[in-house]
Amino acid sequence: MGLKAYLDDIVEAVVTTAKGMRITARYGVDPKEETTMQYPEERWEIPEGYRGFLHNDVKKCTACTMCVKVCPIDCISLESVRGADKRMVLASYDINIGRCMYCGLCVEVCPPKSLKHTSGYEMASVARGELILHFIAEDAAEIKARVARQVAEAAAKAEEAAKAAEAAKAEAQAASKVAEVPSSGTAEEKKPE
Ligand code: SF4
Ligand code: SF4
Repeated sequence: MGLKAYLDDIVEAVVTTAKGMRITARYGVDPKEETTMQYPEERWEIPEGYRGFLHNDVKKCTACTMCVKVCPIDCISLESVRGADKRMVLASYDINIGRCMYCGLCVEVCPPKSLKHTSGYEMASVARGELILHFIAEDAAEIKARVARQVAEAAAKAEEAAKAAEAAKAEAQAASKVAEVPSSGTAEEKKPE
């Protein structure tokens, strides 16, 4: 390296340091030039379309399992049973947000659009289990037992109704047979003496 290049380097270093220090000084003394956000008192405005924590509106969810099947890393799990009206009833619906990578595939495929991203992103925890969101508070076993009872009751009612209908049909058939039989006793009574 020649002397000129060496001196140029020194000049450049001094100039760039001065520029940097000028910016530092400006931010240091001017209150309008705040660069540090006072989190958590202040927060960035969440942009539209931000993919935060997932939320499932379980009243709309049909337990179709599309979200479970499409998730590349298996962070959604659900249990469901067929109800008395033949529709699926959710017994549990969980999302592991500690594992989720917020790709949005599950939201895309959800037919009733019950699954959505929220703007939530804060969930500090020291226990991994706390990162599993449970969308149904009631115990899954209790829900299954209740649905099984309802199914059994509906089946019993249907059987009772079928028996009643059968009995009514048999009664109607018997009555029509009686009506068809000719009344011979009456004919005798009508003979002249
Ligand atoms: S956002 Fe992606 S990773 Fe997260 S649950 Fe949905 S499909 Fe799975
Ligand atoms: S895709 Fe939607 S409707 Fe189907 S199980 Fe998932 S959340 Fe429910």
